[in-house]
Amino acid sequence: MPACTLASCMVVDSPGLRRVAAGLYSSLQMIEPITAERGQQVLMSIIRVLPDILVKKIAAGEVIERPASVIKEVMENAIDAGATRVSVQIEDGGKTLMRVADDGCGMSAEDLRLAVTPHATSKLAEEDDLYHIGSLGFRGEALASIGSISRLTLRSKPHESVEGAEIFVEAEQVRADRAAGCPAGTTVEIRDLFFNVPARRKFLKNSGTEFGHINTQFARIALAHPDIGFELHNNGRMVQNLPANQTPLERISKFYSRELGDDMIAFERRTGDIEIIGFAGQPSGARSSANWQFSFLNRRFIRDKFIQHAIKEAYRGLIDPRRFPVVFLFITVDPSTVDVNVHPTKVEVRWQESGIVHREVLSSLREALGGSDLTPTFDPASTSRPPVDPAQQDAVRQAFAEQFKTMTPQQPSLSFGPDRPAGGGGGSYPSPSMPTQSGSDPSQGMDMWRQVYGQRLDAARDERDVMPPDQPYAVAGPDVLPPGAIRGAIQLHNTYLVCETDDGMMIIDQHALHERIMFEQLKDRITRGALESQRLLLPETLSVSAEQWATLEAERDVLGQLGFDVSRFGTDAAAIQAIPSILKDRDAVAFFRDFLDKLSAKEGDEPAESFIYDILSMMACKAAVKAGDPLSGEEIDALLAQKDLVEKSSNCPHGRPTTLRLTVRDLERQFKRT
Ligand code: ADP
Ligand code: MG
Repeated sequence: MPACTLASCMVVDSPGLRRVAAGLYSSLQMIEPITAERGQQVLMSIIRVLPDILVKKIAAGEVIERPASVIKEVMENAIDAGATRVSVQIEDGGKTLMRVADDGCGMSAEDLRLAVTPHATSKLAEEDDLYHIGSLGFRGEALASIGSISRLTLRSKPHESVEGAEIFVEAEQVRADRAAGCPAGTTVEIRDLFFNVPARRKFLKNSGTEFGHINTQFARIALAHPDIGFELHNNGRMVQNLPANQTPLERISKFYSRELGDDMIAFERRTGDIEIIGFAGQPSGARSSANWQFSFLNRRFIRDKFIQHAIKEAYRGLIDPRRFPVVFLFITVDPSTVDVNVHPTKVEVRWQESGIVHREVLSSLREALGGSDLTPTFDPASTSRPPVDPAQQDAVRQAFAEQFKTMTPQQPSLSFGPDRPAGGGGGSYPSPSMPTQSGSDPSQGMDMWRQVYGQRLDAARDERDVMPPDQPYAVAGPDVLPPGAIRGAIQLHNTYLVCETDDGMMIIDQHALHERIMFEQLKDRITRGALESQRLLLPETLSVSAEQWATLEAERDVLGQLGFDVSRFGTDAAAIQAIPSILKDRDAVAFFRDFLDKLSAKEGDEPAESFIYDILSMMACKAAVKAGDPLSGEEIDALLAQKDLVEKSSNCPHGRPTTLRLTVRDLERQFKRT
């Protein structure tokens, strides 16, 4: 049958279309030789139902992108099966072999056959379950998909059975199915991934890169399940060994670094709708990408724009806005309030009310950061750290070439609110009363977390309590200053203030500190009403375009709140009648011009609060003493006295540090006295 028959049934005829039609015809011919009669049928309706194996390969493509996707699915199955230990073995970046062994509930011979059948799952019984998902898997397609694009072996024995069973699947055909001697639990072995999907196989990167992706998935799962023991082997070498019943902080330290773990500020918040356990990184440790922000929702790693936005907002003014703080968030919500069935690998979710998670993440982080001393310690001794295992560092680096996020747990009696004890840095935790019973019921996951994590906090606190007496400078005596006290400040180069503290010394950037203090005062003031305003004897005029005037008119409220009174002056000018008192000795007109620019550039959806804060930080910068301004003794004292009255005084509103701290110990190290 000539190709033009196909073309002739189309509305528009053209040489191009003829070529398309001819191509289509010959591909159909390849799939199934077409008889004249059948050809007529096929050509009349060009839509075909795809062969089963093709459907499965396409479905597999959605979930299984690379070896790491297989590892994620199979590890999640082990966790859903109640495993307490999971061991992962990788060869050649997962391209030739991946083996995951668990000690979970296991499967009977019959269940093994069902497990590799599409849409067969033990995790959903009826439609309603879809809206209360408590397990990591539920679609019943992972093993079937993996079986359609690899050589898959499952070996399993339920704990109560005497004998185990084994099933071997190749390109979706079950080839063997027999009894097997094996330990209780399940071993899943995947060989030659994508052996029958050359396009996908070609697409895989070198073994090192693929292993990096696997390590990323492994870390996400291990962080979310510190109660479970995990091992990771690469080409016969063990690269991670994580005992069961670790704390999230231990896992964070293991994967990323001891220093990072030790510096984190722990917090917890529980309201009716949502529970958050989190670890907030120091502002000074912020990174250049968001890869170090980990969110877990109901123990599943997710990426979520509302959470990301809340983190950014919480660190506003503490870090350079182009940088990203390290944050681990472990969030628990009622599964019915969130839809996890919107993304093939479930890494994105849809919230019933996204406002709640945004609000809770923001407030819990703000509270945690507000209650902590964020002053960076000058660290001259970074070279004295214990050597790290280069192989492990490599794996971690590879892992972080990836998108990443995580979370952490916490403990019941911690209070991070304003009534926490004064003094001390992020480590001054009130004494917690530890629960003694460890919960193993998965529904009480958070209690387990809290307990596990509580132990870590306890240990951290004890360490801090015990440490000072070992340090010569900390021995109490008449000369020891009360915690937090500052003594004997002097000004250097009309820019820096240097003073003695109870455990060393501080160097302060006078502008940065004053700016932060003013910013906090302005923020506080504006929540209680308009800023104080001062009328000018002679109004100041400046030129204002019609468009700018329209913008100003629209934002009259903001203008009033800031303490400005401005009226129209002729057709192309404005007269400033009153200015914020804080700017009285400054160039208020220049400030007003900057303000106008900001107002014109304002995005329609920018929250009013963040816009006002931007303006206040501009105002604080204008009003604060400058680098190079000589200060009198009283002025220095007044500035330092205010330091402890404001929160977050460690950083200026733009995120630069205000203060460097050098402890006596650091000095001793530098002078080789220790
Ligand atoms: P899902 O996890 O969405 O149910 P899978 O294809 O991943 O779908 O697994 C299918 C079924 O096989 C699971 O519902 C579970 O009953 C069983 N299964 C898979 N892996 C394991 C395992 N490691 N231990 C016990 N049962 C398992
Ligand atoms: Mg699964």
